[in-house]
Amino acid sequence: MGMPGGAALGAPGAAVVSAPGAAAFEAPGAAEGQGSAGTRPSLTVPGDGVGSAAPAMRRVSTRVPVLLLVSGTGWRSLLPGQRVRLHGRVTPPRGDEFLAGVVVVRGPPRPVGHPPWPQTAAGEIRSGLRNAASVLPPDARGLLPALVVGDVSGLDPALVTDLRAAGLSHLTAVSGANLMIVIGAVLALARLVRLRPRWAAVLGAVALIAFVIVARPSPSVLRAAVMAGVGLLALSAGRGRAGVPALLAAIIGLLLFEPELARSLGFVLSVAATAGILGLAPPLTRRLSRRLPRFLAEATAVTIAAQAGCVPVLLLLDRPPGLASIPANLLAAPAVAPATVLGAVTAVVAPAAPALAELVVRPAGLATGWIVTIARATAGLPDTAPPWPSGLLGLGTLILLIVILMAAGRRIRRVVLVILLVVTTVTVSARLYEPGWPPADWLMVSCDVGQGDATVLAAGEGSAVVVDAGPDPRPVDACLRRLGVRSIPLLVLTHAHADHVAGLPGALRGRTVGTALISPLPEPEYQAAKASGTLAAHGVQSHIAAAGQSFTSGPLTLTTLWPSAPSPADPSAPAVPVGLTDPNEASVVLAVSWARLGVTAVLGADVETESQRALVASGRLPRAEILKVPHHGSRDQDPQFLTTIGARVAITSVGAENTYGHPAPATLNTLATAGVRNYRTDRDGDVAVIATHAQGGLAIARRGHAHDPPTTAAARAHPPRAAIRATPRDRPGCPTCRAESATPTRRSRSRRSRSRRSRPIPLGLVTAPPP
Ligand SMILES: [Zn+2]
Repeated sequence: MGMPGGAALGAPGAAVVSAPGAAAFEAPGAAEGQGSAGTRPSLTVPGDGVGSAAPAMRRVSTRVPVLLLVSGTGWRSLLPGQRVRLHGRVTPPRGDEFLAGVVVVRGPPRPVGHPPWPQTAAGEIRSGLRNAASVLPPDARGLLPALVVGDVSGLDPALVTDLRAAGLSHLTAVSGANLMIVIGAVLALARLVRLRPRWAAVLGAVALIAFVIVARPSPSVLRAAVMAGVGLLALSAGRGRAGVPALLAAIIGLLLFEPELARSLGFVLSVAATAGILGLAPPLTRRLSRRLPRFLAEATAVTIAAQAGCVPVLLLLDRPPGLASIPANLLAAPAVAPATVLGAVTAVVAPAAPALAELVVRPAGLATGWIVTIARATAGLPDTAPPWPSGLLGLGTLILLIVILMAAGRRIRRVVLVILLVVTTVTVSARLYEPGWPPADWLMVSCDVGQGDATVLAAGEGSAVVVDAGPDPRPVDACLRRLGVRSIPLLVLTHAHADHVAGLPGALRGRTVGTALISPLPEPEYQAAKASGTLAAHGVQSHIAAAGQSFTSGPLTLTTLWPSAPSPADPSAPAVPVGLTDPNEASVVLAVSWARLGVTAVLGADVETESQRALVASGRLPRAEILKVPHHGSRDQDPQFLTTIGARVAITSVGAENTYGHPAPATLNTLATAGVRNYRTDRDGDVAVIATHAQGGLAIARRGHAHDPPTTAAARAHPPRAAIRATPRDRPGCPTCRAESATPTRRSRSRRSRSRRSRPIPLGLVTAPPP
């Protein structure tokens, strides 16, 4: 990339780097990267002035950004423009990111000098807004600073998930539309006091600059400011189309200034949103101002038009907005302007007059609360894609429809709109109405959470033991919601890998949790600390798992099989066997039994060969009807472990098209050869084990996918194929005894276990007639 001294920067080794200010060091949520709960917090600093002060190394300076991977405290409170000194290891960037280097930082930053005074003032304004908002209910308190200046530091992760699910997360970032609303309010005020147009323009420009500083001048905020300028210019002329040349000039200017923008999705969406505002805001404003006050009509029109402008881009990228996001955005739009403007007023007056700020913040909180309500309500709806093709075909169809609508008369326009409305309503309600789920008498459900684990064990009406929370809060929350789980007497986090714990906020959401059981190996450190923090914040006490613990809730009893307990002779001995440093090998393996039904399940967490062998050798493994296959069916399995349990049904929790090659063909083969019927969440969706009326009888129900192409929606509206029925355990060597419904006696059990190894047992699974 032709930067001077690239070799020195690329060389790994200790370095002292002094970086000028963290312009792109956004509020924590943004810094961590969207939704990637597993990544380390990072920040990007402008490269100019980044240099090595180590005597043996050359000082390097580059305009290309440098990525800092940071941990620990002290980073979040840095102000933009603050120079810092830090120690870290410089490594070359991987992948195709536009970076000069990546610095893995050790220790806290050491500030050099003071940040520039406008940034200090801006910091005070931001914290003034946060303080003033603290009188609001928790969700509104976190969302208001995000709405006004993109400060997401106080946002609850569960609310972030809901906002994303509802298609409202764009509200928490500073956008052109956001800026237009604030500056628009300033200009409206100028009109009200009959300020001369020239002075009004100056006032608007000053407000724009002030806003950029308060919202932190990151590239995305600067971009938003340019786009807002274009939009305001065009709208003040009264005709949106007049802004098109200005928009094109802005695109060229920004690309010349920062070529990297050419491949930034954020930039494309920003341009699309501005184009949407130019084309749609004026006519929408005219319509809305018949019902709403002028300013509110304008602001609502801008919010809706910006969203509409993004739709073609999202379609082209195969990311159609969810159906529920359309009503969510329409309903939220009128609250965005009052919340933003009142929030901005609060921020401005808070440092000088806290009492006044508290007065203004209450109505702002009402508007924010409305947005929270919409997000919560919409997030509960099924994840539905519109019945619309994606890619070029989808874009073409959309353009064709718009052309027809524009050319057609009023009547045809109405007919088309009514048809669209009916199709939308039918699709949404078809998804909402899911007869047959959860199936009656379900014992255990493996939730389809993608690549990860989340197992739910029925523990009575509205209550369930939950083992792992999957990689993302949303699917586990949705799965628990479908099952009607409101209380979790025991929550087990088998180990701290993100595919098991990152969904924790979703499992906790709106549910009471008794106790948590966690692995004795708190690694990876970052995830383990984060999970413990989340549990503590919800007032949930964590206990370290060790073999031999047992827990009873309603009809089920859980026993911890692994990791092995500290030796009774030496209580100070570690629970994790010496040498076990892999979180997978130290994950919590459980036996679950429903004594009344005579059914047992073994949940294998992510243990691999080493621990599996140790478990087989320990003799602690019970015989069980159901096996949750360890480690997503990976290759690292001990065949003895898979077969000695003697399960009839196996469930593999695994993500579709995962990059790990899970489940491994060899593992599937071992299971099939042993006569174990395997179900997998990537193909079957949520998998439920059901107790049939015959004692000891089991059946399997599958829910299908949340992400199936829309064409299968109708098929899914039918009851799930509660299809494969497992009859009570067969007696060995007696294929005709299949229908016998008695729970096997102890003797027949041990007899079976002896003969089982020598001869294959018939599957004992028959397909039930369609319900
Ligand atoms: Zn895993």
